[in-house]
Amino acid sequence: MCGIVGYIGNKNCVPILIGGLKQLEYRGYDSAGIGVMNHNGVHVVKSVGKVAALETKINGSPFRSTLGIGHTRWATHGVPNERNAHPHVNNAGTLMVIHNGIIENYVEIKKTLSAEGFRFVTETDTEALVHLIDSFIRRGYPLFKAVRAALSQVKGTYGIAVVHASEPDCIVVAKNGSPLTIGIGDSENFIASDVSALVAHTKQIVYLEDGDIAEIRRDSFFVNDMTDQRIEKEVQYITVKLEEISKGGYPHFMLKEIMEQPESVYNAMRGRLLYDEGTSKLGGIDEYADRLADSKRIIISACGTSWHAGLVGEYMLEQYAETPAEVEYASEFRYRNPIITKDDTVLFISQSGETADTLAALKETKRKGALALGLCNVVGSSIARESTAGVYLHAGPEIGVASTKAFTAQLTALALITLMIARKKRLSLTDGQTIVRELQMIPDKIRTILRLNAQIETIANKFADARNFLYLGRGYNFPVALEGALKLKEISYIHAEGYPAAEMKHGPIALIDENMPAVFIALKDSTYEKILSNIQEVKARHGKIIAIANEDDEEIDNYVDYSIKIPRTIRMLNPILSAIPLQLLAYHIAVHKGLNVDQPRNLAKSVTVE
Ligand code: GLU
Repeated sequence: MCGIVGYIGNKNCVPILIGGLKQLEYRGYDSAGIGVMNHNGVHVVKSVGKVAALETKINGSPFRSTLGIGHTRWATHGVPNERNAHPHVNNAGTLMVIHNGIIENYVEIKKTLSAEGFRFVTETDTEALVHLIDSFIRRGYPLFKAVRAALSQVKGTYGIAVVHASEPDCIVVAKNGSPLTIGIGDSENFIASDVSALVAHTKQIVYLEDGDIAEIRRDSFFVNDMTDQRIEKEVQYITVKLEEISKGGYPHFMLKEIMEQPESVYNAMRGRLLYDEGTSKLGGIDEYADRLADSKRIIISACGTSWHAGLVGEYMLEQYAETPAEVEYASEFRYRNPIITKDDTVLFISQSGETADTLAALKETKRKGALALGLCNVVGSSIARESTAGVYLHAGPEIGVASTKAFTAQLTALALITLMIARKKRLSLTDGQTIVRELQMIPDKIRTILRLNAQIETIANKFADARNFLYLGRGYNFPVALEGALKLKEISYIHAEGYPAAEMKHGPIALIDENMPAVFIALKDSTYEKILSNIQEVKARHGKIIAIANEDDEEIDNYVDYSIKIPRTIRMLNPILSAIPLQLLAYHIAVHKGLNVDQPRNLAKSVTVE
């Protein structure tokens, strides 16, 4: 998920690695490390926090080499600390590995290798790969073959770079689902997860594809596939400037994160869907799955965007899991005297895992003996640590203050939890399989929606001067209306309110005139006919209407000023799709107004105060 750099040549690699890691900082990370090869083996320096802290640690030390690898970690397994930072080394201190991604079957690998005497010293999934490669080296495999053999036993995603003392003149790299490129130089070669770390040194780039394994030396490299067949790679000349490719080529983190959603939503469900059983498997809460399913009540407690995700979760749980569900603002929950019993489960949702109000509500819940589960994005965060068990979102670092990809990952995780409970209750196998299949199709449907970016920008530009906005939806799409309004408020400073569409006539309709845009989430579900009536009510009062509608809905265009058409899915998953055009709408309005979308005024990414 985060950053990889590497160098082999005739210069001292240390400043090159540090410089490369700095270029990758925009991807977000929690710790960093570099490892070099010299005459007496591999040497590693790691540090929690910024690359600058790592640099300070290295400065003045005799740490130099002409071969090295560097990593910025964004923890997925094991808290962010120095021990868990990469590179990871084998027990003999002769092999080092950096890894981006997730080794899904690390528990099994760890079990087998521990029984064979390999000593595990970190909490990471990556370490399983290190010892697995080492196990093949001990059997006499050369490094390249050992890496290939190990990877053939691994499930999951990886971009890796591997160095072994017995072959001090090469770096072996491999890619599956995590980006990796080779930079070609003159008697020197580079690797990086992102070309922004390479452009200062070379413009000649080889992009690796999934399944590629490459051996890189000072003057040469080759790339094979997993069956050991050679692959001829085209060397591409990049002409872009550094400014154009930092932040992955996007002008803002928020847009980058919106565009990452096909991958982040996929990562939230990766390895967690069991099609044959029509259910999901969530390692983090496995042990408590029965207690969760037997809960008399599930309370979801959160703040802001996470609270909106919680509202969608409530609909999901009530529809499929047949469990009464309630959603509470954490800030209210903690100061009331909520009636919580040992038969309840309280689910705490927080992107950062540090939200002060949510953390306090969690502590209160534990005191009352209910099962406290966390749903966080940041591994090892306070809420993740304090909760009895939990599910990580695996959405990758979210830097833009207005949450986007964490929201859709939260919805995905809530769908998985719902599915798991529902299957333990009365949901049939075939209905469970339908949900699994629909979930699997979501990333591609998100891609389809993201292709509407230019259309949404055109619409946004027409409304950038609006002073107020109304967002309306029903059923599952009511929380999406709230979230759409919140996004707009957060970054464009336009006053916006979300309402259940039917509530409009009880008050907000008084606001409607030709200057009041109303955004309707009008998807073809059981509430469609009713929402069309609400649209007519706004139209009759000359309100301007933007509708988020389904692709096959032509009728809607008779009633609305602008429509944004998205693919269909099942009701419970609609919010994952319908939230995305609203994120883009808010983004483009804010950009049009020249505002700082990534750091809106008065807001902080992680709200650690009450
Ligand atoms: N899964 C690995 C870890 O937690 C790699 C994380 C990353 O991609 O930075 O250490």
